Amino acid sequence: MLGLMQDRPLLISSILEHAARNHPRSKIVSARPDGSLARHGWPEIAARAAQLAHALAKRGVQRGERIATLAWNDHRHLEAYYGISSMGAVLHTVNPRLFPGQIAFILEDAQDTHLMVDPTLWPVVEGLADKLPASLRAIIVMGEAAQLPAETRLRGRVEILAHEALIAGEPVRFDWPDLDERTASSLCYTSGTTGEPKGVLYSHRSTVIHGLSALQRDAFGFGALDVVMPVVPMFHVNAWGIPYSAAMAGSSLVLPGPKLDPASLHRLFEEEGVTFSAGVPTIWTALLQWLRADPARRFSKPPRLVVGGTALPTAINAGFLKEYGVRILHAWGMTETSPLGTANAPKVENADWDDDRFLDYARKQGRPLYGAEIRVRDAEGKEIPHDGVAFGELEIRGPWVASAYFNRKDDPAFTPDGWFRTGDVVTVDELGCIEIVDRAKDVIKSGGEWISSITLENLIMGHPKVQEAAVIPMHHPKWDERPLLLVVPKSGEAPTAEEILAFYEGKVAKWWIPDAVEFVESLPHTATGKLWKAELKARYRGRSAAAE
Ligand code: AMP
Repeated sequence: MLGLMQDRPLLISSILEHAARNHPRSKIVSARPDGSLARHGWPEIAARAAQLAHALAKRGVQRGERIATLAWNDHRHLEAYYGISSMGAVLHTVNPRLFPGQIAFILEDAQDTHLMVDPTLWPVVEGLADKLPASLRAIIVMGEAAQLPAETRLRGRVEILAHEALIAGEPVRFDWPDLDERTASSLCYTSGTTGEPKGVLYSHRSTVIHGLSALQRDAFGFGALDVVMPVVPMFHVNAWGIPYSAAMAGSSLVLPGPKLDPASLHRLFEEEGVTFSAGVPTIWTALLQWLRADPARRFSKPPRLVVGGTALPTAINAGFLKEYGVRILHAWGMTETSPLGTANAPKVENADWDDDRFLDYARKQGRPLYGAEIRVRDAEGKEIPHDGVAFGELEIRGPWVASAYFNRKDDPAFTPDGWFRTGDVVTVDELGCIEIVDRAKDVIKSGGEWISSITLENLIMGHPKVQEAAVIPMHHPKWDERPLLLVVPKSGEAPTAEEILAFYEGKVAKWWIPDAVEFVESLPHTATGKLWKAELKARYRGRSAAAE
C-alpha cells in the first residue's frame, strides 16, 4: 500500500521561493574586490535569479544545458546558483585556481554553452583563449558593461556580454518548471590531483536532501537568526551546500568575495555579526595567527566554525576554543558526497568529556549523519572491527552520494553493490567515529606495514616551531618506503632536525618516526588548498633513505 501524502518534487526553485516569501528581511551581504559591500535580501536575489533565467532562456538555453561559472562567493554567483538550476539547466562551477589545461579539459568535457566569469578572473579566461570548447556560445562578464575587457584576444571568436546589461528589463518572476526532482542541477569536477578531473553531477533531489540534512543541529545547525559566512568557495562542491541550507533556514548570508585574508574576514565577522562560518583549516590557521599577533583582536561574539577538507589540527582547534571561545566542528566530505558525510559532534557516550579530552578526540572526522551510511573494508574486502586501530577503505552510500561520474562509464570507485569507494583509509572506533589515517595512495608502506602520513603531519603541527609539514615516502632498499618529513618552520624559527624528530617520541611507535627531516620555505597546495602530495612525491622521487 502506498502512503497518501502529496508528492511534491524536491526542487531548488522551492528553496529560493521559500526564502524570498518567508525571510525577506534576512540580509545577503556580498563583498566586492575593493572591500565595499553590496546588500540585498532574499526577494531581490530571487528577482535577479529570475531575470538571469529569462535572459538565458531568450538566448535559447535548454534544459540540461551546462552553464559554467568562474566566480567567487558573491551575490551574482548566488543568483546563478538558483536561476540556472531552477530553469532546468545545469550550473557548472569551475575552480579558477586549476591550471589552464585542467579548466580547458573541464569545459570541453562538460560541453558548456555559456561561461559566466567574474571580472577579476578575466585573465584566467584570456589564458584559455586558444582552448575554449567549440560548444561555447557566449561569455558573460559578471558585472556592468563598463567592466567588460577593453582589449581581448577573444573578440570576434565568442560573444562577450555584460551580466547587468543582459538581465536588465527582464521580468522579476519566472514560472519555474515542475521538473522531475532527479533532474541534474549542478556539476562540479573533483580537483584531479592525480589523473583527469571527474565530473560529479548533482540532482535537485540530492541537493535538497543534503541541504536539509546539513541543517541538523549536530551538523551546520543554523537557523533564521544566524548570519552565515561560507568561506569555502562556491566553485567547490556548492560551497558545502551552504547557499541552499541558508535559504531553507532563512539565514542571512555574508559572501566574502575574493579577499580571504584574515583581516578582511575578521572585519566581516565583526561588522556583519557573523555567527557561523565554514572553510578549510588553512583559512582558520591564518586567522588564528593573525588574531594572536595583537591582543586587541577579539571576537565580540565568538562564531561557530565548521572545518573540513583536510584534517583539523588539534592545536588550531584548541587555540580557537581556549583563547577566543570559538567552537569548531570537524566534518568530513568529498565532492562525490555533496559533500557532508560525517561530523564530530559529541553524543551520549562522550557528552561528559572535558574540553581537553574532546579537543583531542575532535581530530577525528566524526560519525555519519543520517542519510550517509558508511562501511569500512580491508584489502580482502572484510569489514574491519570498530576498535579504533584496524584500518581499511571507507565506503559510503546515500541519497546525496554520486552513483557514477559524468561522461564516464564503469569507474572502479563505484562498487557493484551500490557503494562509493572514497579512497580514504580510516579507522572506526567503539563510538562509530571515523579517523582518516591517510589517502589510500599516500600511506607509507614500510616493510608491509602501513604508516599514516597524516598522523605524522598532525602531530608535528603541534610543535611550537612548525608552521606546516608534509610526510611523503622515500625509497628504502629494505623496507620499500620510509617517511620523509618536510617542515616549513614558523617565521623567525630555525629548529634542528633532532628537536623536530624528538617531538614524536612517545607519541607514535618508534618505527613510524621519519628517517629524515628537510626544511623548506613552503609546500605546494592544490587548487582546493590541500597539500599537493603528488607534486611533492615527484619532486623527491630520487630521494632514498639510507639502509640500516
Ligand atoms: P574533495 O573532493 O576535493 O573535496 O576532496 C575530498 C577529500 O578531502 C576526502 O576524500 C579526504 O581525503 C579529504 N578530506 C575531506 N575532509 C577531511 C577531513 N575533515 N579530514 C581529513 N581529510 C579530509
